[in-house]
Amino acid sequence: MVANVDLSYSAEDEAFRAEIRGWLEQHLTGRWAELRGLGGAGRDHEAFEERLEWNRLLAEHGWTCVGWPEEHGGRGLSLWQQVIFHEEYARADAPARVNHLGEELLGPTLIAFGTAEQQARFLPRIRTVEELWAQGYSEPNAGSDLANVQTKARLEAGPEGQSEWVIDGQKVWTSNAHLSQWVFVLARTEPGSQRHHGLSFLLVPLEQDGVEIRPIEQLTGGSEFNEVFFTGARTAADLVVGEPGQGWAVAMGLLGFERGVSTLAHTLDYARELADLVAVAKDNGAIDDPLLRDRLAGLKVELEVIRAQALRGLSGGGPEGPSIFKLGWANWHKSLGELAMDVVGPAGLLTRASGTPYDLDEWQRLFLFSRADTIYGGSDEVQKNILAERVLGLPREPKGAR
Ligand SMILES: Cc1cc2nc3c(=O)[nH]c(=O)nc-3n(C[C@H](O)[C@H](O)[C@H](O)COP(=O)(O)OP(=O)(O)OC[C@H]3O[C@@H](n4cnc5c(N)ncnc54)[C@H](O)[C@@H]3O)c2cc1C
Repeated sequence: MVANVDLSYSAEDEAFRAEIRGWLEQHLTGRWAELRGLGGAGRDHEAFEERLEWNRLLAEHGWTCVGWPEEHGGRGLSLWQQVIFHEEYARADAPARVNHLGEELLGPTLIAFGTAEQQARFLPRIRTVEELWAQGYSEPNAGSDLANVQTKARLEAGPEGQSEWVIDGQKVWTSNAHLSQWVFVLARTEPGSQRHHGLSFLLVPLEQDGVEIRPIEQLTGGSEFNEVFFTGARTAADLVVGEPGQGWAVAMGLLGFERGVSTLAHTLDYARELADLVAVAKDNGAIDDPLLRDRLAGLKVELEVIRAQALRGLSGGGPEGPSIFKLGWANWHKSLGELAMDVVGPAGLLTRASGTPYDLDEWQRLFLFSRADTIYGGSDEVQKNILAERVLGLPREPKGAR
């Protein structure tokens, strides 16, 4: 039986909503107002420097890392207040934030698994947006099958005799590595170890000779992600999070911190995209096509269902929550991109006549980038395997099938 869930907010939560809403109204003006709607998945290049400045302004006013405990520089907001923060941020169409990986994934991981020295060294600069982070998990043969990581690291004496990790290997699809100062790397530190044994979670500076970052050009013409090559790259011996050889637990802990609070707020961005598409359909007459009308209305309903399901998950739903939410929003967004191409019609085949082949309009970019939604953050098939094996208790896929 599905339990009823109370989704109403307390008076205290509503007061908090008024506070963040008021702050955004007051500050998202003048030059900052021009940044509204910029950035986001597949569009990180948009006004990056200006968005970085905006993020530092947020930090000055205590609006970064809002879910971190106060003793680590956060606001210690409850889960629901974090939802409210992200909702109001999306509602204001404020520019996409630049340090998702540092703020929402690495920070909580350091708070849970890091040493006091690591916390003191890294957390303040994540909070003030002085240092941006990239995620070095995936490799050419380790994506869904992450335990196949082959990048290696060994301890050696550094130039001044101090012990250092020396790293060799390759990561791929490393989002924003070209904009970041640091990367957290899952590397094999026990020679001959297999699968999830013998891995370590290392914090590695990107600006050094042993690191080469090569951009990968995407379908959209942007290069949001990269190949990252480590050739004798170095990091200090004490920049391992958790015990050496126990990095898998830290790496999985980090993924567990992605509770979907900020992604939930993206459903508001999606609602805005859908409303904009309806406006286009009214404008160009596509709305008269009953099949397109049906699909537009269908997406409206589906989005409400996805949002309700996600809220239920956050209020203590079962283990199926994150996978159902990921499957839901990713496929919804992909469907929106496909529908957008049908609504704009033949115009969707043409890029603008500025001389660059990738001068795409918002609908073309949405259509092309949303193809990635069902891949990153755990592909559709991986989510279905989780639901089959861990939630429904179906037989595990045979070994060797991967
Ligand atoms: C936009 C974008 C940004 C990314 N950013 C980062 C980043 O910053 N850092 C990082 O480390 N990685 C990043 N990734 C990588 C992402 O995590 C991987 O693409 C993802 O884990 C899938 O791995 P893969 O690409 O190697 O595909 P594969 O794992 O090789 O999968 C290929 C296909 O096989 C299917 N498949 C795989 N295993 C199974 C199975 N057991 N059963 C059924 N089907 C299966 C998959 O669903 C997929 O359809 C990013 C990816 C994208 C698209």
